[in-house]
Amino acid sequence: MGDFSKKVAISAIYPVMEKENKNIYLLGREKQIATAGDANFDMECSKASEAGSVSQRACVFCGSRVVLYPIADALHVVHGPIGCASYTWDIRGALSSGPQLHRLSFSTDLREEQVIFGGEKKLYAALTTLIDKHKPAAAFVYSTCIVGVIGDDIEAVCKKVSAEKGITVLPVHAEGFNGTKKDGYRVACEALSKLIGTSEQRNKVPFSINILGDFNLAGELWMLAEYYRKIGINIIAQVTGDGRVEDIRRANTACLNVVQCSGSMTWLAKDMKEKYGIPYIRVSYFGIEDMSNALYEVARFFDDESKMDAAKLLVATELKKLLPALKEYKEKLTGQKAAIYVGGAFKAISLVKALRLIGVQTVVIGSQTGNKDDYNLIKDICDEGTIIVDDSNPIELQHFIREKNATIFIGGVKERPIAHKLGIGFCDHNHERKEALAGYEGMLNFAKEIYATAMSPVWQFVRKSPSQEEPRIKNQEQRLK
Ligand code: SF4
Repeated sequence: MGDFSKKVAISAIYPVMEKENKNIYLLGREKQIATAGDANFDMECSKASEAGSVSQRACVFCGSRVVLYPIADALHVVHGPIGCASYTWDIRGALSSGPQLHRLSFSTDLREEQVIFGGEKKLYAALTTLIDKHKPAAAFVYSTCIVGVIGDDIEAVCKKVSAEKGITVLPVHAEGFNGTKKDGYRVACEALSKLIGTSEQRNKVPFSINILGDFNLAGELWMLAEYYRKIGINIIAQVTGDGRVEDIRRANTACLNVVQCSGSMTWLAKDMKEKYGIPYIRVSYFGIEDMSNALYEVARFFDDESKMDAAKLLVATELKKLLPALKEYKEKLTGQKAAIYVGGAFKAISLVKALRLIGVQTVVIGSQTGNKDDYNLIKDICDEGTIIVDDSNPIELQHFIREKNATIFIGGVKERPIAHKLGIGFCDHNHERKEALAGYEGMLNFAKEIYATAMSPVWQFVRKSPSQEEPRIKNQEQRLK
């Protein structure tokens, strides 16, 4: 307890430290901030957030919710106070080609009475009513902080309802305080693991894959699935973008798991390798290089010449359209500097490459859930002097952005106000975005969005610190050319 209050007190002196332009970090976080090119680079990561640091990470429950949310024909019931459900209501821009049940946020709305006498009866009533009304293909029940405190046996309630209603009802043990957002990913994967393999189908489908870790934001997965189909690959399950319970049940019949968003899905990929012998590869669909590699890697796995030829043809056709369009953006954007802060480090790596393609240099980069291998890779691909940070907070981020004179910030909903307060361009690359940024079409959208935000005339009306004036003036001149 003594240690905790000491750290909170230290975090309270941030503004003073910033004014004096000293290094900005909370005591205990020194080793989670590094610089590319440093001979002693050894990033500390994959640890709980420091007490007193207003981490950009979400809670365990939120982590589980973002992974399972896109399963569109399932019922998602949040067992907890209404705030938890409201916090995660319609949490992703994950589109469904059919049912929309996932977009409703059901809650047991626990009150004082249930906190004292228990909430199991209320959960039972909510589940049976909702199952009768919506006839879902399965149900997920999320426990929240207070459920962990009062000790409701959600496992027993799920079992009882499952037997009575004849559908799979899965508990998701996601008490918010029980770790980090990354632990939420794991508990979501544990729930998915219970669903996989419950179909009658057992035999492997030739040339088939599961797409793991794409959430069909703005319909991206539909484009990616089309690329795979064009090169002759069958898709068994999309886990979880535009996901369906029945497809996930038979995911064990695929030959290969293709994992994007490795932070959330590597646990499941490893689990399926162990249980069903399905190998997995890590890919990214952001930027030309990584998108093309994803297709080549899958074609290479099946060791089939026709698939590789089809992949090469597809890449060549797409690049023929895309490269001339990108050239124009590169001419306008060359010299811009970007700060990146996203959930998964693998995405951050792709973004560095995609930005380079349009002339933008990355000067600050960080993630919420990266591991040592990810950060070593980041260090290798970034220019010397780039600030690399793990599990950052708003104070640090704004300090680094100013220090490096970044003109664009790429992040999610929690990073947007930081960019706007600093008066620099912002690109939403997180789960709430409405623009497809994956694949070849997505790369063009990305270039358009970076250009629009960096060159927006609105920034001339925002008061800047002296160190930010020069890049702003250059942007205005570039825009007027
Ligand atoms: S689970 Fe806990 S930390 Fe997460 S939203 Fe609910 S109350 Fe907050």
